[in-house]
Amino acid sequence: MAHWIAEAGFDAIPQLCGDGYLIAGDSGMLFNALHREGSNMAMTSGRLAAEAIVEAMGRGDFTRAGLDGYTSRLRESYVTADLRKYRGFNGFRLRHHELFTTLPETAAYAAREMLTVDGTPKKQKQKTIRARILRDIPLLGLLRLLWDGWRSVK
Ligand SMILES: Cc1cc2nc3c(=O)[nH]c(=O)nc-3n(C[C@H](O)[C@H](O)[C@H](O)COP(=O)(O)OP(=O)(O)OC[C@H]3O[C@@H](n4cnc5c(N)ncnc54)[C@H](O)[C@@H]3O)c2cc1C
Repeated sequence: MAHWIAEAGFDAIPQLCGDGYLIAGDSGMLFNALHREGSNMAMTSGRLAAEAIVEAMGRGDFTRAGLDGYTSRLRESYVTADLRKYRGFNGFRLRHHELFTTLPETAAYAAREMLTVDGTPKKQKQKTIRARILRDIPLLGLLRLLWDGWRSVK
């Protein structure tokens, strides 16, 4: 039941409309990777595609120009606004491997230390954890990560 997640963002959106076709939902890369939401965008883009098709039927024109009401509707919707807002998020994740390596490893280490009952006083455990954090996550790197992350979603 594994399922692909279309999380490459705004810059990966393909041409959504051409002669005789429209693309909605995940296939059009309409997925908000930060908020993990795509069903809302799939439903909205599906509705907008249907409206454009009805319009095209009225004119009997299913060329790219005839179906273009879809892309203009999409441009005016929250779908484009949200994907544009988080445009930098994918690049941010690709630039910061520590999000998938050092940071979760350190969080798991800290949780394991604190939750393991082995006779070590908690104060000593906190000291050990703090030393590990300072060793693995340099302050400057952490500040750069936070700044870069904030800029990618502001
Ligand atoms: C683990 C996981 C958790 C998620 N959690 C959330 C969440 O909490 N909130 C949220 O908003 N979104 C969530 N999503 C994303 C959401 O599921 C998708 O964005 C959404 O389902 C996309 O809808 P869609 O109609 O574009 O594609 P899909 O739902 O994938 O529908 C595509 C359909 O096409 C069918 N199909 C494929 N190929 C063919 C073919 N050749 N012929 C005929 N049919 C075909 C497939 O079987 C499928 O039924 C999650 C996704 C995953 C994987």
